Amino acid sequence: MFDPMHGSCIEISQSAYRENINYLRSRFGDVRISSVIKGNAYGHGINEMVPLAESCGINHFSVFSADEAWTARKVIRNGSAIMIMGDVDGDALEWAVDQGISFYIFEPGRLESAIESARRTGKKAKIHLELETGMHRTGLAGKDLNYSLQLIQKNAEQIELTGLCTHYAGAESVSNYLRIQNQIKQFNQKAVELRRKGIKPEMQHTACSAAALSYPETRMDMMRIGIAQYGLWPSRETMVKLITRDRKNSDPLKRVISWKSRVMSVKKVKTNEFIGYGNAYLTDAPIRVASVPVGYAHGFSRSLSNLGRVLVNGKRTSVVGIVNMNMMLIDVTSCRDVKKGDEVVLIGSQGRYSVSISSFSELTNNLNYETLVRLPRNIPRLVVA
Ligand SMILES: *Cc1c(COP(=O)(O)O)cnc(C)c1O
Repeated sequence: MFDPMHGSCIEISQSAYRENINYLRSRFGDVRISSVIKGNAYGHGINEMVPLAESCGINHFSVFSADEAWTARKVIRNGSAIMIMGDVDGDALEWAVDQGISFYIFEPGRLESAIESARRTGKKAKIHLELETGMHRTGLAGKDLNYSLQLIQKNAEQIELTGLCTHYAGAESVSNYLRIQNQIKQFNQKAVELRRKGIKPEMQHTACSAAALSYPETRMDMMRIGIAQYGLWPSRETMVKLITRDRKNSDPLKRVISWKSRVMSVKKVKTNEFIGYGNAYLTDAPIRVASVPVGYAHGFSRSLSNLGRVLVNGKRTSVVGIVNMNMMLIDVTSCRDVKKGDEVVLIGSQGRYSVSISSFSELTNNLNYETLVRLPRNIPRLVVA
């Protein structure tokens, strides 16, 4: 199981992913799912997640930037579509047009470049017009929108209007309820106006996981599902809402990722000694500590110093002292017979216990999203049953 060249390994569970997609489909009916794989598929690995998603019948992938589209394109086998929601410019934009990769338009300048690229490559530029509806991040409104509409109509030969879209400013929290309602209204009004002007997008898509789960009217023709497909809730609130609505008492989403390391060495420390750098941890009894070759360079946050929890030999135990760049120490005094090479679970289950990703969020300021996305690319990913 363990690649001996690496101090830790990430496992991707096929069965958990299948269950999540089945659950989401059971909730959403046959609305198309775009699998959001930005941030190296939320740390899970684009190379591993794309084939897995395709094997579940997903044929649309959303990325943030051109480099992610490049990575995804190399592993796509079923001719699935790729959509860039964020950064793409210059030669990368022309590459996207040439490859039939669609992208968001939130500036007239990008639309002008797309039209030029379409002329040069002889391919239509596939675009999604992103409307400003109240998030005020990216999105077209006012003069820029009107000018873009003119460009689209004048250059119909060069443009394929694949989508009309927007993004909600925090659908995972009820505290944004009114703002989201207003955004939905804005989007629908503008969509009607555009159609009246003869602008006919192939599809409308607005929902992320939280919106799709909490506001059914946002699902439209396609949903951009990120966090939920990986088996995590956008927020605790969304989970409680859905579980009570379904009258379930178990979590229908299953964590796809596990992260495992091993004991590098074990040592005994006497009473009244500081462990590791500085004076973060003083022993108040003789203890045994094990070093584990994972540190903040591997995405295990330094703010988990003296706080993090890991599993070893079927027991739950704690990080002691400061998390170093490449290793940490854990207290194994009460874990019987811990020896070099024993499995250490950083995220996932072992025996009766498990460490969830949300436990990281409780102990630090990191969101689920953030903990995952910090897992570096060079940790080997292993797809398991
Ligand atoms: C990240 C992202 C999503 C997916 O969000 P989740 O909360 O992970 O489902 C959808 N749309 C856009 C524009 C995004 O940036």
